[in-house]
Amino acid sequence: MDLRHLPAPEDRLTFRVLILGGTVEARELAGELAISGIPVTSSLAGRVRRPRLPAGELRIGGFGGPAGLASWLGVHGIGVVIDATHPFAERISSSAAEATARIGVPLLRLERPGWTAGPLDRWTWVADVTAAAAQIRERGPRRVLLTTGRQGLSVFADDPVSWFLIRCVDPPAVALPGRHQIVLDRGPFKLADELDLIDRHAIDILITKDSGGPMTAAKLGAARERRLPVVIVRRPSRPPVASVETVAEASAWVRDRL
Ligand code: NAP
Repeated sequence: MDLRHLPAPEDRLTFRVLILGGTVEARELAGELAISGIPVTSSLAGRVRRPRLPAGELRIGGFGGPAGLASWLGVHGIGVVIDATHPFAERISSSAAEATARIGVPLLRLERPGWTAGPLDRWTWVADVTAAAAQIRERGPRRVLLTTGRQGLSVFADDPVSWFLIRCVDPPAVALPGRHQIVLDRGPFKLADELDLIDRHAIDILITKDSGGPMTAAKLGAARERRLPVVIVRRPSRPPVASVETVAEASAWVRDRL
């Protein structure tokens, strides 16, 4: 263990945890630490209009890259940082790795495991949403359930033949395919509702990202039941930092440093 990173006993009262959030795990961790009396600040990007709010202190908005984050950590006396952002939020994770390395603050990545296909699943893995859009164009006219989030939707905009049911939390602000319908909704989703959505809209293919977790997994079960193909976007690569998969492990890691 690196003793430079342990707060001295007299500093323990000011030891504060920063959670980079925007996920259910980030909220759960903030709740768990706050209830134990550990000072915690959660940070949100500010993208969602009505975010679910975590316990403890909250700040909203970007830091201004790694330099801005490093200076914010210093000014606010942050003892440890937990990067509990979404598996597809690449920039903030690399910013966190760079900023914490620069000023010597310990960083832990909390990332839920990805999804894995079962024997009845018909999944095609692709590297990014551009490759997912190419898959749909290659397959000809389709009725697509598209759940990759509102960012990056513009890669589907020049598809003239397929119809897209686009599900996202807030309305998209980018170019969209000519033939589409938007459903504003957020998890948790139930299998029966996902089956109903697929049936009502005669969906014949699902495009999603490997977000992982139980909140949004029901669509994969529904696709399996209806024998639908799934195009699934692989997670981006991550900076090499210490990493855990569960809130309990992250909470134990913080307590070890108090
Ligand atoms: P991103 O590309 O990694 O971040 C873009 C910029 O937004 C970052 O450089 C940073 O600005 C700011 N930012 C991101 N997360 C932040 C946070 N937790 N606190 C303060 N600033 C933050 O991320 P993204 O894909 O746009 O996602 C934005 C947020 O939504 C993330 O926090 C993530 O957890 C959540 N989210 C993302 C997805 C997804 O599919 N991408 C899904 C669900 C939730 P500065 O450089 O100025 O610091």
